[in-house]
Amino acid sequence: MPRFHCPAPLQTGLALSLPPGAARHVQVLRMQPGDVITLFNGEGGEFDATVTRMGRSDVEVEVGAYHAIEREAPCAVHLLAGITANERMDWLVEKATELGAVSITPVMAERSVLKLKGERADKKLAHWQGVAVAAAEQCGRNRVTRIDNACTLAQWLAQHPAGADTGVRLVLSLSEGTRPLAEAVQGQMDVTLLSGPEGGLCPAEEALALSAGFVPVTLGPRVLRAETAPLAVLAALTLR
Ligand code: SAH
Repeated sequence: MPRFHCPAPLQTGLALSLPPGAARHVQVLRMQPGDVITLFNGEGGEFDATVTRMGRSDVEVEVGAYHAIEREAPCAVHLLAGITANERMDWLVEKATELGAVSITPVMAERSVLKLKGERADKKLAHWQGVAVAAAEQCGRNRVTRIDNACTLAQWLAQHPAGADTGVRLVLSLSEGTRPLAEAVQGQMDVTLLSGPEGGLCPAEEALALSAGFVPVTLGPRVLRAETAPLAVLAALTLR
């Protein structure tokens, strides 16, 4: 059944005009009155909904039964991902959402090629959030990976001092003195995961992370692409 994110209060029995994104999608699928879809608003669970009217661009539905179902991963993973080039970042957001990431902070790393500022940054964030919504619709998650405002590592740390979050902080590192992932994460603990952009984290960023309680972790002898590395960790942690 087609699933749509509908960021509005939902309640059984409610008559509702779908928000523009979902309405367009229902139009494209050429659905008819009587057809049934699934709606979720990201606050938990999902609703059946029946199409009651297909307008020229608007779609009206009646909200049906509520199902308190979640398809979340067993541990909460927050990604601090060095911003990569365009398509790679889209890919990372899509796959991370499928693999259950709770949130992603795009990190403006020293070596990030894509620089984000002002209006352009807002547009990019909205775009990435849209990618996460589409991925959640597709994969069955009723929670959408949250895309936080882009910031530098120093800015993020100023708001999240060591010890501020539950679980463990990891930095994916190619330097000496790293530990294997399985050793650094035991059980179903929550994880905040820092990874670098294509050019890697610079020494100052790595040092800053270590001083803020990030444990340096290796993924083995091969150098993984910037989008592959955090996805490998998400898969290893959430598919156990
Ligand atoms: N040219 C860069 C490579 C960066 S790879 C360099 O030499 O530093 C992009 C990011 O993926 C890295 O910053 C690191 O966070 C992560 N990464 C890639 N392969 C890894 C591995 N084998 N172990 C740990 N982290 C890795």
